[in-house]
Amino acid sequence: MKWFCRCYRCGASYDLVPGRYLCDVCSQQQQVDRPLEGVLELAWEGAADPQSIPLPVESEWFAPIPVGKTPLWAPQRLREQFGAPNLWLKDDTCNPSGSFKDRASWLVAAFAKKHGVQEIVLASTGNAASSMAAVGAAAGLNIKVFLPASAPAAKRIQVLQYGAELIPVDGSYDQAFDLSLDYSTRTGSMSRNTAYNPLTIEGKKTVSFEIVQDLHKAGAGAPDHVFVPVGDGVILAGVYRGFEDLLKLGRIQKMPTVWACQAEGSSAIARALASGREGADAFATPIPSQTLADSIAVDVPRNGLHALSKLQKYGGQAVVVSDAEILAAQRTLAAGSGLFAEPSSSAAFAGWLKVRTTIAAQDNCVLLITGSGLKDVKSAALGLGLEP
Ligand SMILES: *Cc1c(COP(=O)(O)O)cnc(C)c1O
Repeated sequence: MKWFCRCYRCGASYDLVPGRYLCDVCSQQQQVDRPLEGVLELAWEGAADPQSIPLPVESEWFAPIPVGKTPLWAPQRLREQFGAPNLWLKDDTCNPSGSFKDRASWLVAAFAKKHGVQEIVLASTGNAASSMAAVGAAAGLNIKVFLPASAPAAKRIQVLQYGAELIPVDGSYDQAFDLSLDYSTRTGSMSRNTAYNPLTIEGKKTVSFEIVQDLHKAGAGAPDHVFVPVGDGVILAGVYRGFEDLLKLGRIQKMPTVWACQAEGSSAIARALASGREGADAFATPIPSQTLADSIAVDVPRNGLHALSKLQKYGGQAVVVSDAEILAAQRTLAAGSGLFAEPSSSAAFAGWLKVRTTIAAQDNCVLLITGSGLKDVKSAALGLGLEP
């Protein structure tokens, strides 16, 4: 199997080596306050093992920490409550640091280990930081995170407990992103910034393989709809990458409908899709984000262009939900299934609630529950009408 990086837009290919982040040509078109230009995907050629997930790093380099292989729930009471016999919850709160981000961190750490890189640096709204810190602790890597001071306490404390270095940023995630890039460019440490490092997209594709396998084991056929909470759009693109591989390998016959679920106050990708425009034009009017779903709060979605191109290519959909709908959905989900999700993930459930009557009852709907409710108890308290 041969691995390389490929620009999703112009098709230029590059060697997969540390320090390779963006397409040399397309990244020249970068404008201020727009999504990243020149995002790279990983691609492979040659024969793949039909049983396993094709990944660009050999298994011996992965840190000994149990990432992925998370359970797929068949939530009986929710199914009855909503007349949805084929509703499924992919419970990524079960990852070691409590969020989906571990899938990306795990692959980035393995790549760093393989190439003898000792330090990884990143900006995060919280979960990517706590995730990279957890995996870094298991791998024995130095982790440096730039975190907006507004990140929920649990995520900050996690970072410190795992022994990573925390640099608080008195500003937004977008500012933290730029500061961390300055640092990695200056020092040569590996950047795990989401979308910027192509391995972040690749690591997230593993969930699609698991969904297909879990449904198969349950005797339930292929996924028809997948609901994804979306901020920067990297999970969304990773999910698509996984299904693209699965199509290429003949393990599924059709691309599921992927639903980008966004908060009303941070809906750049949904707005871009609705605009009918392509490329950076679709993101011409950035709006400062305002939602309590901190993990999907971004002003400018870093992977917006790439994610939009996937949605447009495969007929993906977007659904936007208010903070009130998110908080209500959080309670409905927890009380109806036993799964306590953070607000971002509750947005996926809220999105499904909003469009479920447009979906055929026999279709398999898989909701990505990406982060644990314990990560942001303050918002959950608000949803109960309690003083946080
Ligand atoms: C980061 C994150 C998301 C959104 O992922 P993007 O790649 O930024 O779209 C959703 N849910 C949780 C829990 C996250 O941490």
